[in-house]
Amino acid sequence: MRVLMVAPPGAGKGTQGAVIAAHFDVAHIATGDLLRDHVARGTELGLAVRHHLDSGDLVPDEIVLDMVRDAMVAAKERGGGYVLDGMPRNIAQARSLYRTAQTLGMTANVALHLKAEDDELMRRLLARAALEHRADDTEPVIRRRLALYQDATHPIIAWYAERGILVSVDAMQPVERVARQILTALEAMRPLLEHVPEHARRPVDLTGLGAAFGLDA
Ligand code: ADP
Repeated sequence: MRVLMVAPPGAGKGTQGAVIAAHFDVAHIATGDLLRDHVARGTELGLAVRHHLDSGDLVPDEIVLDMVRDAMVAAKERGGGYVLDGMPRNIAQARSLYRTAQTLGMTANVALHLKAEDDELMRRLLARAALEHRADDTEPVIRRRLALYQDATHPIIAWYAERGILVSVDAMQPVERVARQILTALEAMRPLLEHVPEHARRPVDLTGLGAAFGLDA
């Protein structure tokens, strides 16, 4: 299972990424966590990216791509599956990630889109700010991150829909229900992934089904 996630801040990428990684026993590559770890350890990379993180801006593409390439090489050694959380964040990253993954024989077979509205995302991130004190969880910086998602990241979704690997889930629901829908969809797709060419697949859109899907499944 090779999944990449496209979701606005606060949609639950980290949480759902961990659920997917545990369920399929694959590597969880979270770019935000990797970058924050560099900052916390005061590495050269950490010093170079800190101001980008604090202001809610994107870190330069090459830095993230190099970091993710290393993580993918490590994932390859332990079986080749991964869930990538936090990349790509713009079309240029989507293209370079695809090229890198292609050379490793590890292109994603699912692009998971978590969909949620800005008001709810702001509410969640401000609630998290009260608990975790992340430098970028202040209201003006959250607004900047949400705007950046709309402008730069959201347009990538059409690209994955065209490739036939898009799965969209409604992330406004409670965490457990979102997780159940994701795992149900991925499990259902699993037998297809290696056998049906991407272009012959259709995007899977679970966002309009609401409570009808996953109730007490
Ligand atoms: P969120 O999605 O809540 O903003 P992340 O932990 O995914 O949280 O990312 C935090 C920050 O890390 C981003 O605001 C950005 O500065 C940086 N970052 C993470 N992934 C990337 C990426 N692929 N490209 C550029 N910057 C990134």
